Amino acid sequence: MSIPAAEIEALLESVGAIRHGHFQLSSGLHSATYVQCALVLQFPHHAERLGRALAAALGDVGAEVVVSPALGGVILGHEVARALGCRALFVERDRTGAMVLRRGFALRAGERVVVVEDVWTTGGSTREAMRVVEAAGARVVAAGALVDRGEGFVAELRSVLPARALLELSIPSYRPDECPLCRTGLPVEKPGSRRG
Ligand SMILES: [Zn+2]
Repeated sequence: MSIPAAEIEALLESVGAIRHGHFQLSSGLHSATYVQCALVLQFPHHAERLGRALAAALGDVGAEVVVSPALGGVILGHEVARALGCRALFVERDRTGAMVLRRGFALRAGERVVVVEDVWTTGGSTREAMRVVEAAGARVVAAGALVDRGEGFVAELRSVLPARALLELSIPSYRPDECPLCRTGLPVEKPGSRRG
């Protein structure tokens, strides 16, 4: 069941998961748009519907398991797996900062995996999750996200496998010394630090 992108954008704005203003991102860059998917995924009925839509958008890739990078991808990955009728695992960082499978999670050799994340910025976490899957001998057959911030990661992914984001945005970000919003004198908000 697909949901038009405009409807997804309106939903995310209505719950504050997409905000407009002047923000300092966790990368230190400034942007006029802030995305925090947890604010829409906190509602189980929205999470379930979005997971179903992402599963449908990915098409029939024969997925046997969903793997998500913790924490951001866990809820959406669970809902995509519910829609696909398969199990949902997550990868997380160990004490050295490396992404690993823990908690007794295991993948079979050749198992068909969909990697799901909440938001793609540079896609670093999805890339790491894909490496963990491949190192375990399983096979990444598709990748999906709720939001792609438009920094080119989805295009890069599509050169190697089916990849879909339910909402593809194009959100410029700026170094603080080059930020046009700073020049207007608009105060900068750091939502990541304030909201944990
Ligand atoms: Zn700025």
